[in-house]
Order: sequence, then structure tokens, then C-alpha cells
Amino acid sequence: MTEFDFEFGPDFAKRLDGQDELASFREEFLFPEPDMIYLDGNSLGRLPRRTVDRMRIAVEEEWGRDLIRGWNAGWWDSPLRVGEKIGQLLGAGPGQVVVSDTTSINLFKLVMAALEMRPGRDRIVSDVLNFPSDLYILQGCVRLLGDSHQIHLVPSEDGIAVDQRTLFDALDERTALVTLSHVVFKSGFLYAAKAVTERAHEAGALVLWDLGHSAGAVPVELDDWGVDFAVGCTYKYLNGGPGSPAYLYVRQDLQDEALSPIWGWFGQQSPFDFDLEYQPTDGIKRFLVSSTPILSTLPMESALDIVLEAGIERIREKSVLLTSYLVFLIETMLVPLGFSLGSPKDPAQRGSHVSIRHPEGYRINRVLIEEMGVLPDFREPDNIRLGLAPLYTSFSDVWEAVNRIKRAVEEHRYLRYFPGKRLTVT
Ligand SMILES: *Cc1c(COP(=O)(O)O)cnc(C)c1O
Repeated sequence: MTEFDFEFGPDFAKRLDGQDELASFREEFLFPEPDMIYLDGNSLGRLPRRTVDRMRIAVEEEWGRDLIRGWNAGWWDSPLRVGEKIGQLLGAGPGQVVVSDTTSINLFKLVMAALEMRPGRDRIVSDVLNFPSDLYILQGCVRLLGDSHQIHLVPSEDGIAVDQRTLFDALDERTALVTLSHVVFKSGFLYAAKAVTERAHEAGALVLWDLGHSAGAVPVELDDWGVDFAVGCTYKYLNGGPGSPAYLYVRQDLQDEALSPIWGWFGQQSPFDFDLEYQPTDGIKRFLVSSTPILSTLPMESALDIVLEAGIERIREKSVLLTSYLVFLIETMLVPLGFSLGSPKDPAQRGSHVSIRHPEGYRINRVLIEEMGVLPDFREPDNIRLGLAPLYTSFSDVWEAVNRIKRAVEEHRYLRYFPGKRLTVT
């Protein structure tokens, strides 16, 4: 990976902004508080202007005027139609991605399908850095299957990354499924997904990637990598809005064999025959369960167009430059104040967010939000996550945010915050 020659100071940040090919995409989003630096686009993306218009049409015209006719005028097909658009961002050919439910529920459906496809194998391999909800889902699946499977969590020496050899050593003839987050939620560690997929297949296992923190920020090539299954959410770098529905991918040649454990009428062969027996429909739609949340699915389509127009290669290029610049500033300005880097140093192993760790992390995070106009998030025990969304985060934002963090600590402002009591959402 290239080394960058970064310089200190606001003029250098402005120069980087001047050379930024994606700078104009900032106009696509609403900035009602211009002085607030938002560093949580990896958790909830900003509101696109197009979404405001699309939402109004969906409510006033499609629901308000068309009423039930809306189902035949684009609602019924929306899970597949919007899924195709997401598929374009994930290197997935047509007919393999649908929008449905939430990430956790899609994970449940695909884990159950995968385990059924590997009878005689009783191990699920994941890692200790995975998103806890993903691990809870796995635990629930194991219980449902009568505790006949074990979950093996590959350890991490530094809490930041997983050593690929340690992971590979965990794969053998007992492994039914390998399921991991492509980009890890806390440290931003990015797996070499193609190599892991290939190695898992050599061991005869199926592979399921959670793309929550990578879709829209990091190139994903599901078909090329030979991935079996994937899930992900749309409210992070895809800017779908709070609670917008998730998606799932099942590779074409597995779709006849793979069966959802939740049988609902949207996955039925001919739902309007109202047959009393379930017959799964062909193709990816068999993984649908029930009525699409239309009001949050339709506006997603125009939000996805923005990402497609910018292009994932250019997004990744800017993301690497943004996070590398941030790491440079952390090392020169924040490490002397007791912070340490909680993310990989090599940009090739990093997604689009960077964690910094500090023993007073929770209180510093509070002061940033309450007084300093910086909005990151906090992950226990001492991680402040700084998410950089290439479509709207500028280099000047990064410079200014690090300065404000530095000030919050130097001026001991965080001491005024009570350390013990945590808010619900941090
Ligand atoms: C954000 C995220 C989720 C969220 O799951 P929901 O079911 O949408 O609440 C799951 N997994 C990963 C890896 C995530 O980053």
C-alpha cells in the first residue's frame, strides 16, 4: 500500500478537499447543523435530499392516492428491484439479492439454511470480533437444532485483527459454516474475503459474510469471490434511513437447495392461490417472509443511486485517503495525550472507520457530543469510533474533529461528566 505524505495544518486539509473528486456529493445530503462534524455515518448514514422527495411521493401519492393499487404499481417487485441495485454494489449478478427483514433475521434464515446443507458437520466458525448480535443469532440456531452444533470463535491477540493462519487452522472436516463480518464493527479490521472464502471451501464449508460495515465503503465482489451467502444492512454507508430493511444474498446455484426456516406467503410459489400447503417459490424470493416495509424500501432506491453514481472504486480511494490522514493526525496529535489506535495501521486491512482508545473514552465521547460539535460513537470498554463516510465527510472535517478531540482532553472538559451512568445508545 502507498505511503502518503501528509502535512500538518488546516491548509493541507483544504488542499486535499480541493483535489477530492467526490466533493460535490456532499451537496446530495442535508446539513441542518453545518458546524456539527458527523462521524457516525458507519452507524446511521445522513439523510439524502433525494430521499426527502422520494419519501413525500411514497407517502402522498403512492400510499395516499394509489392505496392498494400500489402493490401492482411497483411495491410487490420492490424487494427484488432494490435488491438488484444493491447487488450492483456487491458484485452480484441479477437474481441473487433481495431486500427483506433485518440483518439479524436474514442471518438467522441463512445460517439455518446453510447448516441444513451440511449434515454430518457440526461446527460453526466465527471470531471474537464479530458483532454480538450475530453471535447471539448463532447461539439461538444451535439451541433450536438441539445443541448438536458447536460455535468456535477464533481469538484475536490484540482485539483489533484476527490472524489469518489462526483462522485457517480452525477449519477442518467438521466445519459446516464460516460466518464473519467482512469489516469488524469495533476496530474496522477488513478481512481478505476472497482468500478466506476459498480456504473455507477447500475445507468443504459454506461461507456467510456480514457486509454491514463494508457495503458502500469497501469493494465487494460476491460472485467473483465465490461466496455462498451474505447479509447486510442499508442504514449505514448506504444511507437508507433508521431501521431501513436489510438484504440477503444467496448464490444462484445454491438457491434450489437452500431453504428458509421461516415459511411465509411472500416466499410461497403462488401466494394469491391461498393454498393451505407451503411450496417455496423458485429463486431468491423464497427467502422473503412477508409484507415489505414499503415506506422505508422505496426511498432507499434513490439513496442507492447516489452511491452507484459515485462508484465504489472512487469511494474506496477516498476512504483510504481519509482514514490514512486521520491515522496520521491521531498519531501526531492524540497519542501524546494518552490515546492509542484501535484499528489496523495498514489501510489494506481497514474499512472506513477508525477507533481510538482512551481510558476516559466514554467521558471524552460525551463531551465531544455535548460541547464540541463532534458526533462519533462509543463502544465499550474504551473505544471512540470515528466513521468516515466518503460521500460527505471532508478532509477539513477530519482535521477539525481531531483538533476538537485534542481540546476536549487538554482543557480537561471531560472531567465534568459523570463516568458511571451510560446512556442507552452510545
Ligand atoms: C449494524 C450491524 C448489524 C445490525 O443488525 P440489525 O439486525 O439491523 O439490528 C448486524 N451485523 C453487523 C456486522 C452490523 O454491523
